[in-house]
Amino acid sequence: IADGLFGEAPAGDRHLIIGHENVGVIEDVGRRVRGWRRGQIVVATVRRPCGRCFNCGRGENDMCTSGLFSERGIRRRHGYMAQYYAESPAFLHRIPKALANVAVLLEPLSIVEKGIDHSFRLQRRFLWKPRTAVVLGAGPIGLLAAAVLRIRGRSTCPPRIGRWRIFRRRSIRSILPSKRRGCRPSRSARCRFSVRTACCAC
Ligand SMILES: [Zn+2]
Repeated sequence: IADGLFGEAPAGDRHLIIGHENVGVIEDVGRRVRGWRRGQIVVATVRRPCGRCFNCGRGENDMCTSGLFSERGIRRRHGYMAQYYAESPAFLHRIPKALANVAVLLEPLSIVEKGIDHSFRLQRRFLWKPRTAVVLGAGPIGLLAAAVLRIRGRSTCPPRIGRWRIFRRRSIRSILPSKRRGCRPSRSARCRFSVRTACCAC
């Protein structure tokens, strides 16, 4: 986005204020706003509904089918990297004071939760009781994914570069622990993983 290769400025503007991960403190509320007050800690969501499609109509903006959605800090709406921003209460989440220091992770955590939740929903097609999950990448989102999977009772094995080999076999992309480099995940993680999403499990 910073390089101008992705993203779109709001209509009538020649610049885009970036920043979609956010946490803020309410400084003021509109006269007709009820249930919100100055000093509350909030996190705002990123995507805004298109106002046309079924999914946006039922609040699942991330599943927009029209492609006409907008996103704070990314697409046709200024982001949160500003001293102040105005936001509709419909897109705000209240944050307990005890979580203020980590609340900026809510947006990336929502990505993780959605990805894992969708994986489990898809696998309801048949009996599927995964015990171990491979998390590809051990950056902030990968670590959040490992934490969520642990909370769900799965052990995790985040492969480090060079320790796992990824190859294509027939049309199925599979991951196996590399014998040569000596990756030693738990016994259950040594079986084959089929990659369905960023996280996979068996
Ligand atoms: Zn939509």
